[in-house]
Amino acid sequence: MKVLGSNKLLDNIINGNLCTGCGACIDLCPYFKSYKGKTVMLFPCTIPRGKCFAYCPRLEVDLDYMSGKYFGKPYGTDPLGFYQSILTSKAGWKFTGNKFQAGGTASAIMYFALERGYIDGAVLTGREGLLPEPRIVTYPEDVLSCALSMYTAAPTISAVHSAMRKGLSRIGVASTPCQTLSAALMRTNPLEENDFTDPIDLVVGIFCTWALDFRVFEPFMSSRVDIKTIEKTDIPPPPAEAMEIHTNEGETLSIPLDEIRTLIPDACSYCIDMTSEFSDISVGVLEGDPGKNTLIIRTERGRTIVDEAVREGYLIVDDMPEMNLIHLKHAAGNKKKRALKKAYEAGMVNNPAEDEISYLRLHNKTLKEIIG
Ligand SMILES: Cc1cc2nc3c(=O)[nH]c(=O)nc-3n(C[C@H](O)[C@H](O)[C@H](O)COP(=O)(O)OP(=O)(O)OC[C@H]3O[C@@H](n4cnc5c(N)ncnc54)[C@H](O)[C@@H]3O)c2cc1C
Repeated sequence: MKVLGSNKLLDNIINGNLCTGCGACIDLCPYFKSYKGKTVMLFPCTIPRGKCFAYCPRLEVDLDYMSGKYFGKPYGTDPLGFYQSILTSKAGWKFTGNKFQAGGTASAIMYFALERGYIDGAVLTGREGLLPEPRIVTYPEDVLSCALSMYTAAPTISAVHSAMRKGLSRIGVASTPCQTLSAALMRTNPLEENDFTDPIDLVVGIFCTWALDFRVFEPFMSSRVDIKTIEKTDIPPPPAEAMEIHTNEGETLSIPLDEIRTLIPDACSYCIDMTSEFSDISVGVLEGDPGKNTLIIRTERGRTIVDEAVREGYLIVDDMPEMNLIHLKHAAGNKKKRALKKAYEAGMVNNPAEDEISYLRLHNKTLKEIIG
């Protein structure tokens, strides 16, 4: 895959408003930082090839290469990516008593993986008010403090770099699709370093349609509710069409999604992935049942951990109703088609010019099949 320097990242992605704020380029060196969700470059850098470029999920992502690495075949046309099985799930009897976003599957899997030593640390997303913050958790019970969804973009992947510096070498990551893609890029050793070892041992991908910019969302919310009282933010599946804000005073504020949609960053409109396709396991909400999750098992690693967590009482799984699967594929397919078409029309896919940069590369036949 093509790897260039940080000036290309700055020109094309950060200054081009295409940065998702995933944190892949943050804390690798002293130059890139995240300030309230925005990626900033503190000093100019002239390095010709950098990890910041190589790990960016918006630069030169060769989907066929990535798919070959993780699933042994070129990128396909299924809206959900490659998977082994799709189930419904929720935390089991050994892992209850906390407030989760839905069924608590993401937290239960991370808790179980830490407790059983499948991973030596988990990179999760906690919060300070409405600001999401990357966290490194090494004790299973600390997973609970990072439950619930923050609908704002988080530089979560920066904590993978910090975790490696702390000496962790079997890291679990819970990540939205852009974060998942950067973790997947990182694992392919894109700079072909001789002493490379894959630092990540489990990726729990979180479904995501979009993530808001904190600097826009915070003022929007503070004019409606005392931010300090917010306990949980939720976007119930259709037909609700609202973002619900639950406060610790027992009140629920409902904001129409049409108002929220005006805040969605343009960077999200180029994202072709709703379900974190390059993960071991993906988790989303289950339409029609707020206490359960949709669970996609993609890899052998994912299957082993899910099976054991079920046997040991940390997770409960069930069959996925056919209608839910149809709706899920429809939603993910719409997102993929819309974003890929937009990127293609903007000249960001399969750019043939040697000195130009593509966002994505994939086989032309697959591209045409997806965008129609
Ligand atoms: C920005 C965003 C958009 C989402 N959009 C959709 C959607 O369109 N459809 C859908 O089905 N589900 C969506 N989800 C996922 C959903 O809200 C739940 O996170 C998921 O179903 C897991 O539920 P759970 O009960 O297992 O989570 P919990 O057990 O409560 O755990 C939540 C997990 O999410 C992680 N997390 C929280 N906020 C962030 C963040 N900003 N970035 C990265 N990780 C985070 C935490 O580290 C934790 O591991 C979205 C989540 C986020 C963060």
